[in-house]
Amino acid sequence: MKPLNPTLNVDVAIIGGGIAGLWLLARLRQHGYGALLIENGRLGAGQTICAQGIIHGGAKYSLSGQLSASATAIAGMPELWRRCLGGEGDPDLRAARLLADHQYLWATRAPTSQLAAFFASKLMRSRMEKVAGADADDYPAVLHHPDFRGTVYRLDEPIVEVASVLAAFAESHREAIVCNEGPVTLNADNSLTLRYADQPIWTIQPTCAVFTAGAGNAALPWATLQLRPLHMVMARGPALPGPLYAHCLGVSDVPRLTVTSHYDAGGRLVWYLGGGLAEEGVQRDRHEQIRAARRELAALLPWVDWSQVAFATFTVQRAEARQPQGARPAEPSIIHAGRVLAAWPTKLALAPLLAERIEEILRTLGVRPHSANLQPLANWPRPAIAVSPWDREDLAWS
Ligand SMILES: Cc1cc2nc3c(=O)[nH]c(=O)nc-3n(C[C@H](O)[C@H](O)[C@H](O)COP(=O)(O)OP(=O)(O)OC[C@H]3O[C@@H](n4cnc5c(N)ncnc54)[C@H](O)[C@@H]3O)c2cc1C
Repeated sequence: MKPLNPTLNVDVAIIGGGIAGLWLLARLRQHGYGALLIENGRLGAGQTICAQGIIHGGAKYSLSGQLSASATAIAGMPELWRRCLGGEGDPDLRAARLLADHQYLWATRAPTSQLAAFFASKLMRSRMEKVAGADADDYPAVLHHPDFRGTVYRLDEPIVEVASVLAAFAESHREAIVCNEGPVTLNADNSLTLRYADQPIWTIQPTCAVFTAGAGNAALPWATLQLRPLHMVMARGPALPGPLYAHCLGVSDVPRLTVTSHYDAGGRLVWYLGGGLAEEGVQRDRHEQIRAARRELAALLPWVDWSQVAFATFTVQRAEARQPQGARPAEPSIIHAGRVLAAWPTKLALAPLLAERIEEILRTLGVRPHSANLQPLANWPRPAIAVSPWDREDLAWS
């Protein structure tokens, strides 16, 4: 008779190591749960590594002139993340890097853009302040040009370097994060089979399984999800006028352009462009999207010589719980069938709120914290961190 696989009992098995799974792992371990995270690729390989790293405080969600449910849910996130980044909160993210302490919002001279910014600033009060003028100390250097016309607001939204956040979690919880060969699926009795290369096969027997696998949550037939694509653009070259972290407002309640700034492995500055450009760009091929990006940048910052800047693009899907008419979800989502949960944070910034809500559900399901002995997996392979978009070697720059 075939010998049974060795079995490891844990309170919670977390499937998928993006920001949602990692934040949950840290929270549960901090509160005494025996938790194990299983990843089938690299940590953050789905959406998280592609995130612009903005810890939204709600300004983007109040541009319609109303405080939406999204704006309310997200309002406390900048302060919570700042405490963790400063080592005063749980989890301790002192090893992660803050790229900028705040984001700007800039309204062009167009009346719709000015109005949206004005109303959002009234709703956001202390979290969104008009910057006095080009001479103000905190005016973004890139916009400090005699030809710049527009109004600039300072938002209480820090920007984190996402790869360093993933690395901080991986380092602190190394013993509880393991690789699996291929997507993890549930066995009929809700156990999981852990396998990797020539390692002995293990059965993981969790009291509760939580799928934080983004698009991979589709492995659960009842976890209905939606995918919303983006066509992101990157720009690099010596002509870039310095780092910029800003949303530029257009005529709708989605920013026309969102710019964050990053440094590639060679130390080169890269502008990462999202917002309306990326949402509308899903209709365009790579060449058309680069032309659209050049047009947009030339219109907004005409004093920069964009001919000296190279561009690359890629598409990526946002994975969320399915909404009526495919709308943007307002909050994190959790669906559960007995002691199996599927969860999506909706935003990187909302991962702490998702983890808190999952822990509440675990309590109502009667899952209690016990320590787990992870020693048998001490020599198990650990997943690497996903490659940042600006370091990808498969993208063509032109
Ligand atoms: C281009 C872009 C920019 C964004 N910018 C921001 C931003 O600036 N601020 C913000 O707050 N939000 C932003 N977001 C949203 C944010 O990135 C996502 O909401 C968040 O990263 C989702 O995290 P996740 O952990 O749920 O999923 P993912 O990051 O997709 O992680 C899922 C993980 O599960 C693994 N996996 C999948 N299937 C399986 C399986 N069967 N078994 C084991 N492992 C599996 C994957 O390899 C992956 O590591 C952005 C999203 C995109 C796409």
